Amino acid sequence: MKDRFGREINYLRISVTDRCDLRCRYCMPAEGIELIPMKDVLTFEEITQLAAVAVEKGVDKIRLTGGEPLVRRGIAKLVDMLSKIPGVKDLAMSTNAILLSRHAQDLAAAGLDRVNISLDTMRPEVFTHVTRGGDIRKVFEGIAAARRAGLTPIKLNCVVSKSSSEPNAREVYSYGQENGLEVRFIKQMNFAEGLFDIVEGGQGGDCPRCNRLRLSSDGLIRPCLFSDLGFSIRELGPAEAIERALAEKPKSGGKCSHNWIRAIGG
Ligand code: SAM
Ligand code: SF4
Repeated sequence: MKDRFGREINYLRISVTDRCDLRCRYCMPAEGIELIPMKDVLTFEEITQLAAVAVEKGVDKIRLTGGEPLVRRGIAKLVDMLSKIPGVKDLAMSTNAILLSRHAQDLAAAGLDRVNISLDTMRPEVFTHVTRGGDIRKVFEGIAAARRAGLTPIKLNCVVSKSSSEPNAREVYSYGQENGLEVRFIKQMNFAEGLFDIVEGGQGGDCPRCNRLRLSSDGLIRPCLFSDLGFSIRELGPAEAIERALAEKPKSGGKCSHNWIRAIGG
């Protein structure tokens, strides 16, 4: 499907939860966020129905994100349901990998193709500081489990405050090189000011080439991370919500009044 600026939209990012087991400083306040009430969170059936309509319209690439997708109970079941939609060529997940060693095998068996793992530093104490309490050893266990399960190619997402030449980023890059993992650098974004950048080595932030729509965990199709626009699949139905989002997808990002990334997964 094409939007009004002729961009081919084939990529759907699905946030399965706004909950997370970490509190990364650039993403969440220490006290956490006001959570979406569970009754408003989409069921797996609703997500799958929406995804099926999107795939019918031309989406062939789906990514599960959050919050942290692995804290959504029964996530492998959702992967199984999505992987059975004919026409899905690439089913991926963005995760902090804290729970990945526990889930990798089941996710792969359910049809997940690959994972992107967030890793901003190789230093245990910096990781614990940035994530407000996370244990970096669990991330490495998660990477090893993903490799064993064949959730490859594994990519690393590394948030940098200014540039990829920062020491923490260089160390993540070297680790990636040594272990055959592609590293993509994401400049830390400031949502209130609408400041965002192109993802180095990735597709994000490049408005003329943007190919994505997002589904929030409470059922809004969001055409742009840097806009407050959202179309409810429960109120409009999946097909119309997608059509409206497509018709109103902005030419380029502006400001938005919320830090949506933590709820709709970047
Ligand atoms: N919890 C999962 C994770 O951390 O990979 C998925 C959701 S997280 C919101 C998706 C990506 O957004 C992560 O790679 C994270 O590092 C990035 N992110 C979060 N806040 C950001 C910010 N302010 N600027 C740039 N990237 C950010
Ligand atoms: Fe959680 Fe991911 Fe945000 Fe970190 S970046 S707080 S892991 S959602």
